[in-house]
Amino acid sequence: MKTSVLAVGTELTDGQIVNRNAAWLSRRLKAFGARCVLHLTVPDDRAAILESLEICAARSEMIFITGGLGPTSDDFTRDLVAEWSQSPMDFDESSWQALSERLTARNFPVQEMQRQQCFFPRGAVILKNSQGTANGFRFQAKNHEIIVLPGPPKEIEAIWNEHLKDWLNKICRYLDPIVTHAWDLIGLGESQVAQMVEPLVAKTEFEIGYRVHPPLVEFKLSHLRSEEKKATNLVAAIEKTVAPWTIVRNGEDLAEKLTEQILKSHHEKFEINDQVTGSFLLQRINGPFRGLWAQRKWELHSGNLKIGRTPMQMWILPKDEHSVRVGRFWNQQSREIEVEAPMRSTPMSERRKQYFAERALAWWLQELSATH
Ligand code: ATP
Ligand code: MG
Repeated sequence: MKTSVLAVGTELTDGQIVNRNAAWLSRRLKAFGARCVLHLTVPDDRAAILESLEICAARSEMIFITGGLGPTSDDFTRDLVAEWSQSPMDFDESSWQALSERLTARNFPVQEMQRQQCFFPRGAVILKNSQGTANGFRFQAKNHEIIVLPGPPKEIEAIWNEHLKDWLNKICRYLDPIVTHAWDLIGLGESQVAQMVEPLVAKTEFEIGYRVHPPLVEFKLSHLRSEEKKATNLVAAIEKTVAPWTIVRNGEDLAEKLTEQILKSHHEKFEINDQVTGSFLLQRINGPFRGLWAQRKWELHSGNLKIGRTPMQMWILPKDEHSVRVGRFWNQQSREIEVEAPMRSTPMSERRKQYFAERALAWWLQELSATH
């Protein structure tokens, strides 16, 4: 089933924000076998929205629309979707109740103009929004599945998990989704990875791809789920070849996994001492560690390391230009390893820091998984 994502918002076409919604939705749709064939982004402009609905309908069977469901005068996605599909709109009392309760609980006044958020095309399934005031909705029009979602990514994620996943599972169950196997390799350049795997995949008809995201190089292979058996030997051969350099698989993120392990470890406080990577380690953990701010006391610093000062400690200390000491202390036990970087030239000093940060994350994760 072909799908398209239409993102509405002048802040997108002006370049104020990036269209993350399209990427987020497409990635998930692919896993259902509902491949996204078109991303369109248009400003809050009636004619542009109507025209792009036509384009999406010509190219795909399922259309996701994001943004413009709010209460303000520049939010008119719902009206245009109704106009395009020639559906009358009905007021939904339970959406109005939920909206009023949500605003009242937060001490916001309930205003008349917010009633517009509670109109939906007749027969639409309302997708309750647990993270915001604008409910989404889905309905069929002109032989297409139309799914209309609010703009904020957090709200889309909630609606997806709470209402869309199960529905998509049902309507996509006869499709043949694309399965992707991915390996993130560390310590090799893109061409070195290619040299290693090209002989294995030279004759395959499966889709392969490389993506450099320093200090890692991702290699991936995709096939239809129905071709699983045909791909098994090749996947195993690749796995065997790249295993020594593989740091994570299938798009997983080390910093996210480390966050999960720290939360499982029940230490109230932890400390990271980084005397090596400058801002690289911080950059890596900044997003994933956000949830930890609230739940744990923690600090990141580069001052003197005093082992035992905090019940849980992780550190990266310099050894010489090309190697560092990566260590950890918890459960009253400290352990340390030496990590040497394969990139040695002066112009690679930044890449070296990224390398150390990633290797440290991998080792802390391995140690934590083994001890907690
Ligand atoms: P609201 O009730 O918050 O106004 P809305 O459905 O009207 O919701 P918009 O006004 O279009 O949505 O967008 C609200 C916010 O959501 C934007 O300011 C932006 O931060 C974020 N947003 C909207 N569209 C996207 C997108 N395609 N990718 C990433 N973020 C987006
Ligand atoms: Mg809005």
